[in-house]
Amino acid sequence: MGGGLRIGIDLGGTKTEAVALAGDGRELARRRVATRRGSYDGTVRTIRDLVEGLEAELGATGSVGIGIPGTISPRTGLVKNANSTWLIGKPFDRDLEQALGRPVRLANDADCFALSEASDGAGAGFATVFGVILGTGVGGGLVIHGRLVGGPNAITGEWGHNPLPWPEGDEHPGPRCYCGRNGCVETFLSGPGLARDHGGGLSAEAIATAADPAAQAALARYERRLARALASVINIVDPHVIVLGGGLSRMDRLYAAIPRLWGEWVFSDHVDTLLRPPRHGDSSGVRGAARLW
Ligand SMILES: [Zn+2]
Repeated sequence: MGGGLRIGIDLGGTKTEAVALAGDGRELARRRVATRRGSYDGTVRTIRDLVEGLEAELGATGSVGIGIPGTISPRTGLVKNANSTWLIGKPFDRDLEQALGRPVRLANDADCFALSEASDGAGAGFATVFGVILGTGVGGGLVIHGRLVGGPNAITGEWGHNPLPWPEGDEHPGPRCYCGRNGCVETFLSGPGLARDHGGGLSAEAIATAADPAAQAALARYERRLARALASVINIVDPHVIVLGGGLSRMDRLYAAIPRLWGEWVFSDHVDTLLRPPRHGDSSGVRGAARLW
């Protein structure tokens, strides 16, 4: 790790961001470029250039952690579950190590979010932190005593592809999911899921700020679904705090509404789990990636 310089990369669907953190977590520099969509070699080169650019600017060499929309399969060593499909089936970590001439650590972007918020964000100081991404997709990551929890399948926290629990009305079997099943939590709680449920051609962002009855009804359904889905997480993990991230986490109403609702489904006489907005917002992915070392 040299002088403690840690470089984090967040590979997003449209932009790729890089940050350099000092040993004490201070942010030293940041860069953002367009993602080379569809080009695997271009993606590897973009990341190499970002790292080399930051190191030239700072005059030091750092460790490199990378958050990706997907994960490396422990079984094959190849990328799986990535909606940036040009990465799927590639030995992305090994190719980056070759390009950069050093070991790198890769993790799912929701895991990076959870690690960042647990380290010095909204979950700092809590023993068990469940980090949630509510955006184009729905993901999650679990940090216990400051350490990211990983498992043999590299899918810890992937609550987005469980079925929406305690279905009501016409929620069962639910919309088709890209994973091949119906009624996944993601099909209801992602941005596109909210937009489809509203059905009026508005984006999730527009629905969140609309005052008309149709938007308000869609948001009320969204809250009830989020409360049920998080209740099922609480029943298994019992986290001290749940931190929301992703575009939909900007809906302030969620932080009062959800804890009012979720007690109906949590198997406890009282729910002391906290629900918090992110401290670092969109920057948590890249900050968590740097903290993989
Ligand atoms: Zn699914």
